[in-house]
Amino acid sequence: MNLGKVELHLHLDGTLDLETAFRLALERNIIDETWTMEQFKQKMTVPSDNPSLEECLKCFDFPIAIMQDKEALSECAYSTIRNLNDLGLIYAEIRFAPQVHMQKGLTQDEVIEAVLEGRNRAMKDFPEVKTNIICCCMTYGNAKINEEANMETVRAAKRFLGKGVVAVDLAGAEGLCPMLDFKPVFDLVKELGVPCTIHAGEAGPASFVKDAMDMGAWRIGHGGHCTQDPEVMREVIEKQMTLELCPTSNIQCHCQPSYEEHAIIELYKAGAKVTVNSDNMTLSGVTTHSEIEKLITRMGFTEADIRKLTENAIDAAFLSEEEKAELRAKL
Ligand SMILES: [Zn+2]
Repeated sequence: MNLGKVELHLHLDGTLDLETAFRLALERNIIDETWTMEQFKQKMTVPSDNPSLEECLKCFDFPIAIMQDKEALSECAYSTIRNLNDLGLIYAEIRFAPQVHMQKGLTQDEVIEAVLEGRNRAMKDFPEVKTNIICCCMTYGNAKINEEANMETVRAAKRFLGKGVVAVDLAGAEGLCPMLDFKPVFDLVKELGVPCTIHAGEAGPASFVKDAMDMGAWRIGHGGHCTQDPEVMREVIEKQMTLELCPTSNIQCHCQPSYEEHAIIELYKAGAKVTVNSDNMTLSGVTTHSEIEKLITRMGFTEADIRKLTENAIDAAFLSEEEKAELRAKL
């Protein structure tokens, strides 16, 4: 299928190659020989029947435990990109939060270096898929508790800008504290001139999308809840703010009711610049193509619509105009 070539919203820890993760977990005594691949896979994927958000978040326990040293970070990045190449993608922006990989003493710079090392090896071996890295700041429900770590993520991203890192993000438990509590972090983002996307209006309200735009977001992670406030939705459309929607993930996390009632339908019809993404391929059991299949079979999108979504994704990619033109030529 010549559709679904670009991913703007993909978390590394939720998209690990299972065999690689299994091997790394065994080597690090996170699991022992009694574990089967099937058991391991179950712990890494969201249960199919109406899981709670807590159950969803538990699926990140193993990936985070595994990725605490340079080799693991590099191997995980490499094997994930290999899988994206197998899927036939031409471009992906992969995101992760350096600060959650410091449990064994790595600095944020060392974490980013290790991921870039794996990414650079993969780019050599699989030149058909171009990839870049987004560094996530985190929200744990109180912006003050990790404000310094978030500031360091922004400074580290700036140091690696142009070397494989293209932007910063804010990810984590949205909605537990006001979005504007993160303003100091995004003031620094602006001051350093780092491109940014912000998770907003996924679990949180429409007003968070407005706040994220006001704080300088170039794109919005998800943003589906902007439909709950006509004013915010109008601004999203007027500004042609790109929304990175992830249908299956949104439904699994109880942020959208169903495929048929997913906000991406209303937003697309109203002229919003929407894109379709996987969020977490392993955790959610999806691929770029399975998401597109849902858009076509259950959400009323045509192949022409999907092409438009891919064009939207290229327009909003954190790339130069020359690089975007190259991608368009490949479509
Ligand atoms: Zn996300």
